[in-house]
Amino acid sequence: MQKTKKLRNDWTKEEINTIYHQPVLELVYQAATVHRQWHKHSEIQVCTLLSVKTGGCPEDCSYCGQAARYHTDIKVQALLPTETVIAHAQKAKDGGSSRFCMAAAWREVRDNRDFDRIIDMVKGVNELGLEVCCTLGMLTEEQALRLQEAGLYAYNHNLDTSEEYYDEIISTRKFDNRINTINNVRKAGITVCSGGIIGLGEKHIDRISMLLTLATMPKHPESVPVNALARVKGTPLEDLPKVAIWDMVRMIATARIIMPASVVRLSAGRIEMTEEEQAWCFMAGANSIFTGERETLLVTPNPGLTEDMEMFNNLGLKPMIKERQSSCTTI
Ligand code: SF4
Repeated sequence: MQKTKKLRNDWTKEEINTIYHQPVLELVYQAATVHRQWHKHSEIQVCTLLSVKTGGCPEDCSYCGQAARYHTDIKVQALLPTETVIAHAQKAKDGGSSRFCMAAAWREVRDNRDFDRIIDMVKGVNELGLEVCCTLGMLTEEQALRLQEAGLYAYNHNLDTSEEYYDEIISTRKFDNRINTINNVRKAGITVCSGGIIGLGEKHIDRISMLLTLATMPKHPESVPVNALARVKGTPLEDLPKVAIWDMVRMIATARIIMPASVVRLSAGRIEMTEEEQAWCFMAGANSIFTGERETLLVTPNPGLTEDMEMFNNLGLKPMIKERQSSCTTI
């Protein structure tokens, strides 16, 4: 594949704003062109996500059904046994996934027995030959190093939203906490998976600002998940409107253009999209999805593997073979 452009880390808000606000067909055409210069455009990375510890989180992310303070239908689940997690990973591998992502609803990692068990899980999934990813909340540099030594390939830590809008969505931590953890992950030599969520009531300029933060990191995240808000009953954002498909397409296309080497993941919200709408997202440069059993995208529904393979057939797409060149984790 010919890479005609160099990666840039000096994007300005004005430039990203101009890209983002192009007529949508122009934007998709530009993004599809970049996608073809940097990636095999018919290949989609298939990842499986497992919630290894669910609910009961002390944070107050207003989009999340796992926050203990909201009254949602989500069942709290303590940390799963290591053997159960490894069995899920084997099943994911058998189903065609090349990456397995483990999520725990924690504010931060603590140096306790649960973390020791996570280390064992990372080792076990790694031994299956899967790329292993985690999302566990905030992480110190030392903890990141332990995970790296256990074989962790990628760590997911989304920005959530823009720095300017952050306090509207979460009060129990700061935007800078996110950046610190991402920096710790980088220092440990683990690849970074970081993107965000749209549909939280933010303005277009917030989305552009979030993309600016990602695209001006010293190294772009290897994986950039773009999530549409999954409106969970009982959370403060449950009544917000569904994210318009063209908003998702704009986000994905802009991310593809400004971070051309990254894997851009069509993440939460896929369950509410038609196959045609997902095709637009792939055309705009998305080249990764989560799949697996239904209801496995953390605590929100997700299409199942059978439906996804049918969609791949219909669209002439195929699962990306493991290349160990990008990261993949959570929503
Ligand atoms: S998004 Fe993560 S940190 Fe926030 S409440 Fe949910 S589980 Fe906790």
